[in-house]
This record gives sequence, C-alpha cells and structure tokens, in this order.
Amino acid sequence: MPLLGTHVSSAGSILKTFGRAKEVGAEVFQFFLRSPRVWRWKGVSDEVAESFSRSARELGTPIMVHSPYLINLASKDEELRKRSIEVFVEELKFCDEVGVAFYNFHPGTAKGISEEEAIQRIILSLEEIFSRYTPKNTWVLLENTAGERGDIGKNFRELERVISHFRGANMGVCLDTCHAFAYGYEINSRRGFLKFKEEISSSVGLHRIKAIHCNDSKTPLGSRRDRHQHIGLGYIGLEGFRNLLRDEHFGKLPYYLETPKVEDWDRVNLKVLRCLVENG
Ligand SMILES: [Zn+2]
Repeated sequence: MPLLGTHVSSAGSILKTFGRAKEVGAEVFQFFLRSPRVWRWKGVSDEVAESFSRSARELGTPIMVHSPYLINLASKDEELRKRSIEVFVEELKFCDEVGVAFYNFHPGTAKGISEEEAIQRIILSLEEIFSRYTPKNTWVLLENTAGERGDIGKNFRELERVISHFRGANMGVCLDTCHAFAYGYEINSRRGFLKFKEEISSSVGLHRIKAIHCNDSKTPLGSRRDRHQHIGLGYIGLEGFRNLLRDEHFGKLPYYLETPKVEDWDRVNLKVLRCLVENG
C-alpha cells in the first residue's frame, strides 16, 4: 500500500509540521527547512533538533525536506554555485542527523550555458557536496522537471547522466507527476504509462524512484509548464493516478501532495487518492 501525505508549512517551528500533517490525515509529509526564496537560515536549536528527531522516530514513515528554490548546482555564476553547495550541505547534514528520509532538490538550470555543461556542473557540485558530507540515512533525491527555461532533469536519460556518477551513494529520484506529464510523458493512458515505465527501467532503473510528488497538471501534455492542480481536476485526471497507485512498483511508494493550499483541499485530495487505492 502506498503511504499518502502532503507538503506542510513549517512556519513558526519545524516541530509544528507533525501536527499539521496529522490534522489533514497525512501519513507522510514534506516541508521546507527555511523560507524557500531566502538564503538565510537561523538554524535550529539542539533542543528542537532532538525533539524533531524523537517525533520522526515515533511517526515511523518517511519525511521529506524540499531544498530552497534559490539553489542552482548548475550555475555558471561561481558565487551562486558555491552558495548553493553551502546550503545543500547544511540542510543535508541536518536532515541526516534528525532522521529525515529524503532530501529533494531540482537538479539545476542551464542559464547562459549548454545543457551538457549544466549537467557537468551539477555532477561537479554533487561531488563536492558528498566529499564534504556523506549522509548515512538520508537519501538525496533529484526531482524530474517540466523542462521549463533550461531546467535539467526533464527526462530520465538526463537524470541518469547525473545519477550514474554516484553509483554507491544514497541517490535516487522523486517523481513529480505534474512535471512528468507537462514534459510529455502520457502517464494517463495505459500505453503511455507502460512506455514511461519502460523508459525508467532502461535508464535510472525503477528501484531509483523513491518517492512521488503527487500533483495533477493545470496545463496539457507536453506544455512544459509547471502548474500544479488538485488530483483529478487537471489534464492528468484520475486515470493517471490510478495507473501509478495500482502499479506493483509505484503502488508501494510514499506520495506527497504539492497541490494548491486552499481551504480543506489537502484532505479532499488525500481522500480521492485513498479511494483510488481501495476501489480502483
Ligand atoms: Zn514537486
């Protein structure tokens, strides 16, 4: 059975995430350690870290931290790339120490450089990150992108280029359903879904997909735009989520909603997913 959950706010304290997840009936959750568009982080006291660690153990399901949007491991601006590495190491170390299962990040954006060069820079940055800190528990997850504005990681061949460099490392993929569909993977038809699975098997490998960002798409197949929609109300539709949830591999993974935060919609979206798991 898949574990179903959502992104929650960490405003006020990261300790509040547990209650916020519980409130909407989420079995797993994701959050930002800092405001995602700000470099500065005031950090967390030892006391809060210990308390978080205890609650994570009690919860017993995989918690995910999403890295800030500002970081770009592919940047040709050396100052920005160095800063991104600093933030990455700082957050990864924290995640590893407090029992966060997954640290998710967008691989990087090719701004003013070729995609090939961007991929090389991402590899270089990750090499530096792992040489400075090797996580014992936390898995680093590259998120597939919609391929907007030079975003690297739009298909599994690109992700494989990076991951194949780090064979023995705790490195995998977080599959964002909206991004995959917007890039052009037709996961909402049986044929499209099987082709999609086949492409994963022949590149990164199904075993490398560790988690799902579960979002419908406000824009059509191949639109290359990153616009999340409530489950079943977008262009993917229920059929796409049914394909994933009832699949022998994807059906065992944790799912994290990143759908619009309005009213009680987290609860509604989780209910829809639960219905698909139970009734098909
Ligand atoms: Zn996502």
